[in-house]
Amino acid sequence: MARYTDSVCRQCRREGAKLFLKGDRCYTDKCAWTKRHTPPGQHGQSRMKKSSEYGIQLREKQKVRRAYGVLEGQFRAYYDKAASMRGVTGENMLSLLERRLDNVVYRLGFGDSRAMARQLVNHGHIRVNGKKVDIPSFCVKPGQVISVRESSRDIPALKKLREEGMNRPIPQWLEVDVENLSGKVVQLPTREDIDFDIKEHLIVEFYSR
Ligand code: SF4
Repeated sequence: MARYTDSVCRQCRREGAKLFLKGDRCYTDKCAWTKRHTPPGQHGQSRMKKSSEYGIQLREKQKVRRAYGVLEGQFRAYYDKAASMRGVTGENMLSLLERRLDNVVYRLGFGDSRAMARQLVNHGHIRVNGKKVDIPSFCVKPGQVISVRESSRDIPALKKLREEGMNRPIPQWLEVDVENLSGKVVQLPTREDIDFDIKEHLIVEFYSR
């Protein structure tokens, strides 16, 4: 699978928002976006001109796609699926993105970032209802229990989590048991559960052109 290999902080600077791609560092003064509010590159400053309507929609789409670490084809597939569902397309799409297993592992605090959470899933450390699931895009359902494999509980980041507890709020649609490194999906995520400045209508407009 294609992978983004450049500095992830460039993505925040390009999208003009904190995307929280680097774990704890994102909450410190070392955050590149906090230090420099300009797009990356030698001519970054000159890219700060007023954008066209298309440009604004494109940037919003890229921002959300990059925050969730999803490639373009897959992101488009989420939009198509959301558009075929009942309800508001933009909200459906965000709900589908939130229900990705890598995002759930991140939200439960088992990974500092979605990239780390994805690695935990890819490397077979995560169980869903006791069974190994190593597909980051796996879509969780209410009632499912997400846990860390018994033999993986001493991974340094997980050990630290058990010792120090959660330092991030848990969304209402999830329940976490830090001591046992497990969590439960109690309900489907709603728009209010997504604590990130997203104008999803711009993404819908982008794909409906
Ligand atoms: Fe983005 Fe985090 Fe880098 Fe800040 S430290 S620019 S929030 S990835």
